[in-house]
Amino acid sequence: MKLKDYKEKRNFKKTPEPSESKSRKISQELIYVIQRHQASHLHYDLRLEEGGVLKSWAIPKEPPQEEGIKRLAVQTEDHPLGYEDFEGVIPEGQYGAGDVKTWDRGNYVPLEVKESKWIIEIRGERLKGRYCLIKLKAKDNKGNNWLFFKLKNQ
Ligand code: MN
Repeated sequence: MKLKDYKEKRNFKKTPEPSESKSRKISQELIYVIQRHQASHLHYDLRLEEGGVLKSWAIPKEPPQEEGIKRLAVQTEDHPLGYEDFEGVIPEGQYGAGDVKTWDRGNYVPLEVKESKWIIEIRGERLKGRYCLIKLKAKDNKGNNWLFFKLKNQ
């Protein structure tokens, strides 16, 4: 889902979220962030920089810090660079209304990134090590469901 979807879902006169990329990137490292989002249902938004945007997945349960736990990760619309710094309250009545707080952040190294399978090394405070994101097959090929889990140490 594209950045266009991000803009279409939001009224920037009413939400404090950024409308587009605010900052020019200085670091070469790829951004990794997880934002704890207390919306109608608590979830964790995983965002990974790729191709000038933040690829995004909503994880309904706490992201795994150890191997052996697989989490559903529902891919959502790309977010603009700079969104990794957003913390605050999205007002009542707006898309994603609720409180957003940084849960973890750092950078990541793509080890093997394909369209429907990413193996990455996450360098955060809470999540550290090799992780896998794998897209679940859907009948119409339009599914947004992925699994997110930690891989064994090598
Ligand atoms: Mn969210």
